[in-house]
Amino acid sequence: MLPTDTPATRLAAVREKLARAAALAGRGSGAIELIAISKTHGVEEITPLIEAGQRSFGENRVQEAQGKWPALKAAHPDVRLHLVGQLQSNKADDAVALFDAIHALDRPSLANALARAMEKANRTPTLFVQVNIGGEEQKGGCAIGDLPALLAHCRALGLNIAGLMCVPPAGTEAAPYFALLAKLARDHGLSQLSMGMSGDYETAAMLGATCVRVGTALFGART
Ligand SMILES: *Cc1c(COP(=O)(O)O)cnc(C)c1O
Repeated sequence: MLPTDTPATRLAAVREKLARAAALAGRGSGAIELIAISKTHGVEEITPLIEAGQRSFGENRVQEAQGKWPALKAAHPDVRLHLVGQLQSNKADDAVALFDAIHALDRPSLANALARAMEKANRTPTLFVQVNIGGEEQKGGCAIGDLPALLAHCRALGLNIAGLMCVPPAGTEAAPYFALLAKLARDHGLSQLSMGMSGDYETAAMLGATCVRVGTALFGART
């Protein structure tokens, strides 16, 4: 690895681009949480980023996260861990025990399971409702038309929903989808927006993201 391409220099570059995009939109960069998506990457790749000051990380599989994060969190108690992948209801207990934020609440049955798990564990991870913003058949996320009912269901359960999350269709211009997610959040009085990945986090930052989820630009390509 060249000294010019280290986890620390990649982190600095992403932070700088994020700050510039936020400033262009008249926002402070402190308003945007950079989540380093460490799926498929090992402890030896994650540790240098923690040492460079990164504190928010994300994983997309509960089981994979259980293999690497309990020890890392014990060593670095101020790390915040986000679940950004689809969650099966039978993994709700495990997810609530390990994660500080869950970005994939997308159906009433999962809301029920999370409410039960949170009460049992007496933990309240930050919750995002994932919206299937492009109306894609294969993708997780609540249909736009089902969003009001899902939010009402969560409210009735006493679940506090912080905001909305989306993954726009691959290979398309993301900006219209980000703008739509921002509008949906505004319409429902939700303040947080989890949107933007390596290819489009600057766009997301300009359109109101409060957290961006960046993997490849920090860790390099996944194999
Ligand atoms: C993998 C993943 C990311 C990060 O993607 P990159 O393109 O590597 O930055 C962001 N969000 C979700 C939901 C992911 O699964």
